[in-house]
Amino acid sequence: MFQVPRGTRDFTPDEMRKRRYLEQTMAATFTSFGYGEIQTPTFENLELFTAKSGESIINELYAFTDKGGRELALRPELTAPVIRCYVEKLQMEPKPLKLFYFGNCYRYDRPQKGRYREFQQAGCEIIGTDTYEATAELMALAFTLLKNTGLKNIQLNIGNLTIIGAILKNLCLLEDDQKRLLPFIDKAQFDDVKSVLRDSNVSENDAERFISVLQTSDINEIRGFITDDPTAVKELDAMETILSLLKNAFHISEYEIKLSIVRGLDYYKGLVFEIDAPVLGAEKQLCGGGSYELVSLFGGSEVPTSGFAIGFDRTILALEEEGFPFPPLKLDVFIVPVNPDMIPTSIQISQELRSHGLSVDFDQLRRGVGKSLKYADAKHIERVVIVGPKELETHTVTVRDMKTGNQETVAITEIYSKLKKPDV
Ligand code: AMP
Repeated sequence: MFQVPRGTRDFTPDEMRKRRYLEQTMAATFTSFGYGEIQTPTFENLELFTAKSGESIINELYAFTDKGGRELALRPELTAPVIRCYVEKLQMEPKPLKLFYFGNCYRYDRPQKGRYREFQQAGCEIIGTDTYEATAELMALAFTLLKNTGLKNIQLNIGNLTIIGAILKNLCLLEDDQKRLLPFIDKAQFDDVKSVLRDSNVSENDAERFISVLQTSDINEIRGFITDDPTAVKELDAMETILSLLKNAFHISEYEIKLSIVRGLDYYKGLVFEIDAPVLGAEKQLCGGGSYELVSLFGGSEVPTSGFAIGFDRTILALEEEGFPFPPLKLDVFIVPVNPDMIPTSIQISQELRSHGLSVDFDQLRRGVGKSLKYADAKHIERVVIVGPKELETHTVTVRDMKTGNQETVAITEIYSKLKKPDV
């Protein structure tokens, strides 16, 4: 028997209803913040991804050569493709350009719960501004997107690469040691951070202070570490203003400064952020983003750019863990022809109700009334229309409320007004 490839999944109608719910909710939120949707190809030229991350990224990609000898890769993320598209055709658009997307991504990861080889991201890029208000809005959007899905418990963590860079410079680390340190910092593995620092001859006292600054959310304690670096001081002041907008104007206060958020230094710069759903345990990171530089690397005129990507699959897992009641996939009405002669009328009634926007099915197995009612019950269908010969003589049908078992005779001409959904 054939099975899905490792790290990929099928989505049944029951799962697709959750995914469509999430997509619709997120698209509505993106749109409400003035973003327009963009779609790029599933595969790109391999170079698009190696340009920023180097050849070593190929190990993590689904990269292949096509029949024409072109080196291609299934996209591992959408920021590089969206910026490629911007440089190719959108540079002359009025700024800021606010673009959102949904798309499948492919990474040669080790699969586990919340980590797949094919997964979906929902994300956005804002091109052409890096004002404090734009940065505050970007984080507010990420937070609001997740909140609007119905998630209750999420936490926004904010770091800054300029500031962490200044602190690392003070420790006089060699570039190689810095590179070795970053993954440990990112994963908050502080014992490993300590041992790298020890290997690099950083004093025990400095190492302790460094680890404490990685864990503090106190701006003043951070300030104490960077007083001799004017660029970092300016960045911290900017961060203070951004956070004040986030709290006092966007009214989002579930955030913390966490300098251990470093997100791999290859194209991010300055402010970076992540949103976690603690309910997910190990793979709890739902969203990652920040400001980055890619436009000039791809041949465009430099403009400020920032964005984020949300793990769509993990958001669904988090909603499920929190017991979120996803809107059910339900038929509004089931129609039962009592005998084969009633089939044409049953179809006509189905079509009439469908044309008014109700979801309708009719019995296509000729299984009779009793079994049809059992089927409707199993499918949680609340209303059944029974089309019988006697009623048809008087142009009526029987409408059954499956919850109460009550039945009513209704004129066929009145059936839609009887069954229509209440105005909301
Ligand atoms: P990244 O592009 O690595 O910053 O990832 C952004 C978000 O995508 C993460 O926060 C995750 O929620 C999600 N994500 C990343 N890799 C995977 C994966 N292999 N499987 C499922 N979700 C993922």
